[in-house]
Amino acid sequence: MSKIRVLQWGLGAMGGGMARLMLEKEGLEIVAAVDARPDFVGKDLGAVLEVGRTLGVTVTSDADSVLEKDKVDLVLLATTSWTKEQMPDLRKILNAGINCISIAEELAAPEAQNPDLAQELDDLAKRNGVSLLGTGVNPGFVLDLLVVALSGGCHSVERIEASRVNDLSPYGPTVMKTQGVGTTPEAFKKGVAEGSIVGHVGFPESIRMISDALGLGVDRIEETREPIISRTHRETRHVKVAPGMVAGCAHIGIGYRGAREVVKLIHPQQVRPELENQETGDYIHIYGKPEIHMAIKPEVAGGLATVGIAVNMIPHVVAATPGVKRMIDLPAPAALMGPTAYARRV
Ligand code: NAD
Repeated sequence: MSKIRVLQWGLGAMGGGMARLMLEKEGLEIVAAVDARPDFVGKDLGAVLEVGRTLGVTVTSDADSVLEKDKVDLVLLATTSWTKEQMPDLRKILNAGINCISIAEELAAPEAQNPDLAQELDDLAKRNGVSLLGTGVNPGFVLDLLVVALSGGCHSVERIEASRVNDLSPYGPTVMKTQGVGTTPEAFKKGVAEGSIVGHVGFPESIRMISDALGLGVDRIEETREPIISRTHRETRHVKVAPGMVAGCAHIGIGYRGAREVVKLIHPQQVRPELENQETGDYIHIYGKPEIHMAIKPEVAGGLATVGIAVNMIPHVVAATPGVKRMIDLPAPAALMGPTAYARRV
């Protein structure tokens, strides 16, 4: 079996984890690595990943120098959340004739918020005979693909409600800022109005995927973001929250068909939820025939699962027909545990 040759682009918390995981996979080989960080550039990838051995791959900030389709089968892209911001890099990858998996949240269903860019990407991918997938734990798995899969035995579905209650404590300063953690309730409201506090990125993408897969006909999506105000002192490595301050963002996205609410996704994210006896978990309720209720406690670990699903989808994306793909368009993800897992897919 020949190995799938992967270029890891972005070596931060997620991209670094993907590279480490790929080192354990017999069917995958990291052939190049790109990151803009000056302290990474020029170093051997093994040193950047701190794996205690040399890997013979030098990290570069010059993607053009390593985007060669004869040497690379797929790029794993872990740099940003936004389609628009990722476009220059995506254009380079697709024009080089190389497949790509991105964990940018908006790319999970790029047509949801950027239909023109999604069309451009689809055209580019098809013209170059390659495929592009957006995935991750959420969007990409918990609040969309799992929902879709759970409906697989239903005769009919009237309404779906799903929630992901998670702990933001492991995350860094950027996430604290975009979730409004540590601010006053007034500053939170102002941040939401100005767009600096965004909460979760991915509801339009997840709702779009669920609606398209089941044929629910969602024609309007509304989102609300409310501050989770702490009653206790909460603290992480990056933030301190006094009682009365904001510990997180309770974000809700609702998809309507006409006046009818058909998909409701609820995602309260906060630091140290256990201090107020809030258990974490993922919950999916499908109201229809039959009614289905699923609970996963605690939550599917976000960082680990994002790294896992991006790597596990590699053979599916290499084998896919050209174009932009969403998780609902490809075969089900599964852990890559041995040769048959590759052989089945490629
Ligand atoms: P991070 O900040 O730890 O790492 C990003 C890395 O990319 C950094 O090393 C940075 O130097 C590099 N980088 C950024 N832009 C670059 C460019 N154009 N060229 C080369 N290098 C570049 O972030 P992270 O925690 O690894 O997350 C990466 C992105 O993935 C974030 O936007 C995050 O929101 C998203 N994400 C999505 C999901 C999901 O479920 N879909 C889950 C986790 C993270």
